[in-house]
Order: sequence, then C-alpha cells, then structure tokens
Amino acid sequence: MRLSYLGLSFFRNFQSLELRPPLGLVVLYGDNAQGKSNLLEAIILLATTRSPRADAERELINWKAFAEPLPVARVVADVERGLVPVRVEVALRALDSRTAPGREDAVAVEKRFKVDGLPQTASQVVGQARAVLFSTHDVELVGGAPSLRRRFLDIALCQLDRDYMRHLQRYQRVLAQRNHLLRRISQGLARAEELAFWDAELVTHGSAITLGRARFLAELQQHARPIHDTLSRGQNGLGMAYVPGVPGLAADSAEDAGQPFRLALKGAFPREIETGSSQVGPHRDDVHFALGNVDAGVYGSRGQRRTIALALRLAEVRLQASRTGEHPLVLLDDVFAELDAHRRRQVMEAIVGYQQAIVTTTDLNLVSPDLLAGAGVFRMEAGKVMPVTPGYGGTT
Ligand code: ATP
Ligand code: MG
Repeated sequence: MRLSYLGLSFFRNFQSLELRPPLGLVVLYGDNAQGKSNLLEAIILLATTRSPRADAERELINWKAFAEPLPVARVVADVERGLVPVRVEVALRALDSRTAPGREDAVAVEKRFKVDGLPQTASQVVGQARAVLFSTHDVELVGGAPSLRRRFLDIALCQLDRDYMRHLQRYQRVLAQRNHLLRRISQGLARAEELAFWDAELVTHGSAITLGRARFLAELQQHARPIHDTLSRGQNGLGMAYVPGVPGLAADSAEDAGQPFRLALKGAFPREIETGSSQVGPHRDDVHFALGNVDAGVYGSRGQRRTIALALRLAEVRLQASRTGEHPLVLLDDVFAELDAHRRRQVMEAIVGYQQAIVTTTDLNLVSPDLLAGAGVFRMEAGKVMPVTPGYGGTT
C-alpha cells in the first residue's frame, strides 16, 4: 500500500497542503505544534473514517473555517494498492457554525465520503487505504481503560473485514435502542416482551463481533510473541488473553455462538432492568496481557508496557500484510524519542522492509543516518510542508 498524494484543506492547522510522499521511508520533522501529528491523523481518518484522538469531530475543522458560512474540512488521497490507484476523499462539514461560548462541541459534523469521485458509505471507504499508527499513547493499550483495547481491535479489524464493520455499526445502534427500551421498561412505560427483537439482534451482531475479535487476537498473538521476544531480548514471554463480555463466548465455541449469549442475557435481566443498561456483550470485552505469569496491565513497568504496545503494532502490520498480501501504510508518530537504542534499531530494521512508512520526529538525529540517506525528508512548519531532499515534490 502506498500513499502517492495527500491533499488537506481546512483540516486542523492546515489551510491548504499538498504532499507527494515517495515510496519507502518518509520523514516529517519539525518543532512541537507544527502539524506533524495532525497530518498522520488525516491519514488515519481516511483509512478508518474516524480520528484516532479527537473527542469531537468539529475539532478537525480549522478554526478559521468557522468564519465561513459553511465550514468544511477536506482530506483527499491517492492510494495505490498493487497497480490500481484509488482516490479517497473525506469531507467534514459543520452543520451549524453559530456556536455558543463553551458549547462548541454541540456543533454537529456531517461526514461525506467519496471513492474515485463517487459518493460512498463509510464501510465502503474503510479498507481502501489501510494504515497502522504507532503513537506514544500506545502504552495505554496495556494498562489503560478496556475501551482503548476494544478500540484497538475494532480499528484493526474494520480495515480487514467489511462484514465485521457492518456488525459493529449495527451492534452500536442496537445497543443504544436496547438501552433506551430497558429504561422505558424500568419506568413502566414499555413491556419486557418488547425486548425479544432487540435481544435477537444483540446476539447476532454481538456474537459476530466477539468471535471476530477472538480470532483476530489469536492470530495477532502468533505474530506478537516472537516480535516481543526480540524487542525484550527474550525476557518473560508475552501472553495475551481475550476476556469476552459474554462469559464462555470464545473462538472455539463457534457451534452455536448465540447460545452462551442468550443464557447470559437471561441471567442479567433483573440487573439490566435495575440499571437500565445492557450488561453483557462485546461492549464489555477486554484483553489481558501477561509477561510470564505476571499481569502486565497491573504490574508491568512503563518500559515493559511500552514494549508490549510496540510488539502489538509491529504484529498488526505483519498480520495485515499476511491477510491482504501487502503492507499497510505505517505511520510512526514521535515514537523514536521514547525508545532505547536497541528498540529503536529494531523498529528501524522493520521499517526498511515496509513499502511505505511515514515517521514524524522533532529531531532528525533520532533517525539512523543510513535510513535517512534513502528517505524522503520534509520539514513541517506552521501547517506547511517543505521537501528537504532534492527531487521530491512536496509543496505548501
Ligand atoms: P508535537 O511535536 O508537539 O507533537 P505536532 O507537530 O505533532 O507537535 P500537532 O499535534 O499536529 O503538532 O498540532 C499542531 C497545532 O495544530 C497545535 O498547535 C494545535 O493547537 C493546532 N490545531 C489543532 N486543531 C486545530 C484546528 N481545528 N484549527 C487550527 N489549529 C488547530
Ligand atoms: Mg505530535
């Protein structure tokens, strides 16, 4: 997978930016707060239709655009898979620019997608440009909230499996509807029998999600273990355990995946009515990491958790490559600064084998000179990008 063109307008701190990244290693360097992470965020938005970090999508639209009657941020890219180039576009439109002070988040944002100029749904866009982002926040995957681990699995899986994405979209809607109904039942405004339809939907889509995640994790672990051994020089083998939000629902119970789910729903009924919220399902899934016999999320040092997270990302790249036959775009946001020399070298060795990797850094000295010699280097300053290597066409 290769990104041959990226165009941004009124996205984050960019007013207008065009970048033509070469194959192989691309290095974006610049001081803090120049737009390096924003640029990688735009690529992830294209790949997944979501921002990896924004709480509200209106944050993605350049502040200056809000002076316009119709504030719109656009991200356009040409991606090449094999020999076929595809143009992918995302437009984010703020539906109401009259923001009350302190209520900016209330601005609704409408997302529109195009593939090769034709309007498409989000699920048609995901998977067109596959990307894996390494970020300094990845360390939180190991010890942080379970929702971060679910999000990690979902972002990786949606890019690989369109059916998975449809189940996930459907599940989220069903969950919201079902919770609404549970609250109405507990208030005496609806009857318990009305749950039957939503229960069936929950079981269908929820089982598909949990089974998809469990299979993915098993495969990921195959790749992550040897990588982790190399990164940590063979200390304490990495273990990963999938903890499904429906007890007993795991990859090898595929006979009738719905059975344990239906049983769990029955058992949870009184509590669901009491709390007015769904108590079992993949929205409660989690993943536990262990080093030897020790729970890494609880006892792992920061360095150990960071190494696990790094192994996970490198494994994700390998898994995507093995499932699709080509490497995803590999994006590394500022990760060299926090790695020791051994791990940094391991990551750089991996990068050499990738079709295209975009790396951001504040310090070019962190990239080894031999890698830098073959790289396309761009300097980022105040939302503009300038080529440093002669012959590469980055413009403002
Ligand atoms: P660092 O080295 O500190 O990680 P960076 O180059 O990665 O810096 P970014 O996170 O990309 O920096 O952010 C660059 C700037 O973009 C920040 O100063 C931020 O305030 C600004 N910014 C974020 N959202 C918007 C927006 N919607 N409109 C305008 N500017 C924005
Ligand atoms: Mg940054």
